[in-house]
Amino acid sequence: METLNKFSLIAPCGMNCGLCRAYLKEKNKYQVGIKRVLVRCPGCRGTDIGKPKYCIGCRIKNCRNFQKDGAKYCFECGDFPCDRVKRLDKRYRTNFSMSMIENLETIRDEGIRKFVKKEDAKWTCPRCGGRICVHDGFCIECGERKK
Ligand SMILES: [Zn+2]
Repeated sequence: METLNKFSLIAPCGMNCGLCRAYLKEKNKYQVGIKRVLVRCPGCRGTDIGKPKYCIGCRIKNCRNFQKDGAKYCFECGDFPCDRVKRLDKRYRTNFSMSMIENLETIRDEGIRKFVKKEDAKWTCPRCGGRICVHDGFCIECGERKK
């Protein structure tokens, strides 16, 4: 299975897959021969093994503009921000205090390296150095809540 690094873990929509519950926890059952094993999601740009169904069928990831123009992120698209990205952005701002559009604008204006560095600082647990899950809002290692 291909391994994504912290840069390729950033999805076309600006989602940081490294903060996602599906990536952080081995909980998605995957059939291997007669055995069902627990695997974790490799991230949006990875293979479909272990990926949640809604991510496999994601309309942003599967957007024609990516295949057509070879764009890496939604901000490279002439339609940015399209209704799909706006809807996703609204859902994440409302439920998880994170903005896809803001993420994408940071990547566009400051570059992916700077964005990833900022993300690391923002989502590292101040108590134990573990990763804070964007969906749960707390550290997966010690349970400390994000401020
Ligand atoms: Zn912690």
